[in-house]
Amino acid sequence: MTILVTGGAGYIGSHTVLTLLEAGYGVVVLDNLCNASLESLRRVERMAGRELAFVKGDVCDQACLDAIFAEWEITAVIHLAGLKAVEESVQQPLDYYGNNVGGSLTLYQAMRSAGVHRLVFSSSATVYGAEAPVPYREDFPRGVPSSAYGASKAMVEQMLEELCSVENAWSVVMLRYFNPIGAHASGQIGEDPRGFPNNLMPYIAQVAAGRRETLSIFGDDYPTVDGTCERDYLHVMDLAEGHVVAMKHLDRTGIQCYNLGTGRPVSVLQMVSRFIAVNGVDVPYLMAPRRAGDLPAFWADPTKAWNELGWRARRCLDSMVRDTWRWQQLNPDGYP
Ligand code: NAD
Ligand code: UDP
Repeated sequence: MTILVTGGAGYIGSHTVLTLLEAGYGVVVLDNLCNASLESLRRVERMAGRELAFVKGDVCDQACLDAIFAEWEITAVIHLAGLKAVEESVQQPLDYYGNNVGGSLTLYQAMRSAGVHRLVFSSSATVYGAEAPVPYREDFPRGVPSSAYGASKAMVEQMLEELCSVENAWSVVMLRYFNPIGAHASGQIGEDPRGFPNNLMPYIAQVAAGRRETLSIFGDDYPTVDGTCERDYLHVMDLAEGHVVAMKHLDRTGIQCYNLGTGRPVSVLQMVSRFIAVNGVDVPYLMAPRRAGDLPAFWADPTKAWNELGWRARRCLDSMVRDTWRWQQLNPDGYP
């Protein structure tokens, strides 16, 4: 079986592609490399001892997609390609709608033309919006998005629901990721943010490595266990395995969504403390004002993924911080 993975050279994509190759699937990656390096896939091939097919191209390019579906017999698509910087999306909404919504629309049209109806889509916990109670459950309605990024994910979810309600050939799983962190245990592949890291984990790792001076903790007066925000961090390899499990459930038609998270909230201070204790490093930090748009705390109810897919996050917080640090040490400046 050959799987098309859009955005497969990126952070989650590279770990997912490795997991697919190791499970015996053939893989075609489509990526325009706007936020990734081809080196990630070279390493994935070496680690898996198998080759994959790579197409440098854009998911918004219908001709490119048609050519892929003509050349390979694709069984299913895992659609990860997209822009993901929340703050940037507020400044550049059209880029985010064009890429994330426009790219999805073009992809699904190309899939339909090619007679490929099996899809796993990367959604996000952000679709629950600011008002939802915690833990988030899949039967909650989508909330009001707080950024163009969040809105783009919600729009694509809605597009897929409407599509599946009228075309019953489709089999779609939407995966709502919580906060993926960590790296493959080998330290060969990991998260390689370009420029200033927006997310907590790569920032902590770069401070520990001396690449940045101090971590700013955004807000210490939230109504949480220690005043700092709480999130549901899961190991990127657990997330990658979740895609392969979801793919195996694409034999029944219709649409489903699943939370992929651990179900356990961890505060910013707890994360910093674990990173320091497990890795034996120093992470200087200071308390800073709240970051606009941050929610105090959210985490998943992961019961549905366990009951229906048999998936749950297996790796603990210590593995997440240890694997992040190994990746950071072996690749101080990211991919060459
Ligand atoms: P990433 O930036 O590392 O990977 C995205 C990949 O898509 C990159 O390799 C990029 O070059 C590629 N890409 C972007 N636009 C493209 C286009 N138009 N055509 C072809 N390729 C394109 O990000 P990631 O963290 O691996 O995220 C993957 C997916 O998961 C994204 O859709 C993201 O929104 C979603 N997601 C991520 C998180 C997270 O915290 N990392 C959380 C929830 C959802
Ligand atoms: N955070 C922080 N300092 C940073 C980056 C993030 O204190 O340099 C906090 C942020 O305010 C949030 C948590 O860490 O409470 C997780 O942030 P991240 O951007 O990784 O994920 P998201 O906000 O998308 O859940």
